[in-house]
Amino acid sequence: HPAFTKVFVVFTVSTGSLLTYSESKSDHGTENDESSKTEAKKKRVVVLGTGWAGTSFLKGLDISSFDVQVVSPRNYFAFTPLLPSVTCGTVEARSIVEPIRKIMKKKHGEIQFWEAECVKIDAANKKVFCRSNHDTDLVGNDEFFLEYDYLVISLGAQVNTFNTSGVMEHCHFLKEIEDAQKIRRSIVDCFEKASLPGLSNEEMRTNLHFVIVGGGPTGVEFAAELHDFITEDLIRLYPMVKDLVKITLIQSGDHILNTFDERISSFAEKKFQRDGIEVQTGCRVVSVSDREIKMKLKSKGEISSIPYGMVVWSTGIGARPVIKDLMEQIGQTNRRALATDEWLRVLGCDNVYAIGDCATINQRKVMEDISLIFEVADKDNSGTLTVKEFQDVIEDILIRYPQVDLYLKSKHLRNVADLLKDSQGNDREEVDIEEFKSLLSHVDSKMKSLPATAQVAAQQGAYLARCFNHMEDCKTKPEGPLRFRESGHHQFRPFQYKHFGQFAPLGGEQTAAELPGDWVSMGQSTQWLWYSVYASKQVSWRTRFLVMSDWTRRFLFGRDSSRI
Ligand code: FAD
Repeated sequence: HPAFTKVFVVFTVSTGSLLTYSESKSDHGTENDESSKTEAKKKRVVVLGTGWAGTSFLKGLDISSFDVQVVSPRNYFAFTPLLPSVTCGTVEARSIVEPIRKIMKKKHGEIQFWEAECVKIDAANKKVFCRSNHDTDLVGNDEFFLEYDYLVISLGAQVNTFNTSGVMEHCHFLKEIEDAQKIRRSIVDCFEKASLPGLSNEEMRTNLHFVIVGGGPTGVEFAAELHDFITEDLIRLYPMVKDLVKITLIQSGDHILNTFDERISSFAEKKFQRDGIEVQTGCRVVSVSDREIKMKLKSKGEISSIPYGMVVWSTGIGARPVIKDLMEQIGQTNRRALATDEWLRVLGCDNVYAIGDCATINQRKVMEDISLIFEVADKDNSGTLTVKEFQDVIEDILIRYPQVDLYLKSKHLRNVADLLKDSQGNDREEVDIEEFKSLLSHVDSKMKSLPATAQVAAQQGAYLARCFNHMEDCKTKPEGPLRFRESGHHQFRPFQYKHFGQFAPLGGEQTAAELPGDWVSMGQSTQWLWYSVYASKQVSWRTRFLVMSDWTRRFLFGRDSSRI
């Protein structure tokens, strides 16, 4: 990377720390030799990103065993599930962020934080190249590189515009704190603009037309927040434009919240209808200009245009440029995210891990793997296994693919031991491999990839930290069945996601929730559940207190509509 050549020579952070080490050695003589050696032996871990995945990893990591460096352009962690509340001032931006240095300080050890953006990952040479995002007129170098023994990539994702023309220039996004702050100002702008003298009714209507593209959880939650802000606060302050305000939600699928249970999706649609939020389903936006949105009705192919005052684009996520560049280097092109194995190791790289939204676990074809396991076990190629051999194989399979257990249960096979009986209920002496494999015929299609959520990211961070903490131990005492231990295939059990449910706040103190075990709960009581869960999930007591006092402030005094 030519742009960095100058900087390599002048400054490398990792060698910088080694230099300090040799100086201290000569200062303190032999008495510190032992501890210095341990210091020198510490493996260098570089963590990219301080979002849900990176922060959860850092919180769980035993930093005394590693030399940890963290790179992120934001020196804080943001509690993204409350971002929609920031757009309307229900919660203040500073209430949902925690300085990353404060989180790291609680670790009682040293972690180095560099406020910079990673611009390139050189996996072959184990280096990451970074650029500071500070004002260019500050003195010092803007670019540097870090060397690592282990790299943890938790860079999240960026908005996906699907290359739709005009989206980047004219739409708002809802991904970062700054986005939410911009939206808040822009909403008030629309009302102030519409209230200026001399505007025609049509112009006022256009300024007060709020369009949200994307009917997923973020788009729906923002629409609901906006509706509450307008009806509870703004209408009182701008009574003259009361009847001209409109909110439209455009969704390309047939229903909004289509990743949720059907009951929630239809509850949301009915609630929005009652609230006067127009939901246009089956429409795909084809372009956005400074004044209007062009969209295509998927069923008829008709193109129509709607004028708008403000558009928020929330249609999903895609890979960041630095991730795309790494994918190209390692032959993972045309993917939404970096492919990892079930141990979260990036495929095609050594000692590189990827967690959170920037990664996706490559579900190898389970059946292919299972067939291979049977092939190895069936030494005489007879197509059958003894009961003992079969039980061993099942143990291997369930450790690697715990989901297979659920799958078998869904086929009313309560217990794998059932397979060891014949139709008369007598114990079998041998098990037919093909018979068992036919039971798993649809298992691959049932194993879906994990959603891009904070829940997944945080669990992956915590899992990876546990793996790192036991890395040395596991080299000598690996977990997992003998078969894999012998081949050195893995040292830890694979990552397993536990789903704790998801919320969809719908405004007017109504929330819908999908809870584990196919439970669905909707209404005001679920809104209180939402308040308690989100308060408890805050990263510190400070943010918990701030968020709860913001909610109380909103109940007592309403939201603040000043444009600052
Ligand atoms: P992020 O949290 O996005 O963190 C990425 C980190 O990488 C950031 O610190 C960023 O600054 C840093 N970074 C970016 N580029 C670089 C670079 N070049 N170099 C170094 N660092 C970089 N999930 C839920 O489970 N429940 C919800 O209710 C929910 N609500 C949401 C509401 C909104 C509005 C949004 C936007 C998301 C919501 N999500 C929710 C999804 C959730 O926020 C993401 O899944 C989660 O943030 C993913 O975590 P991550 O660590 O992978 O990425």
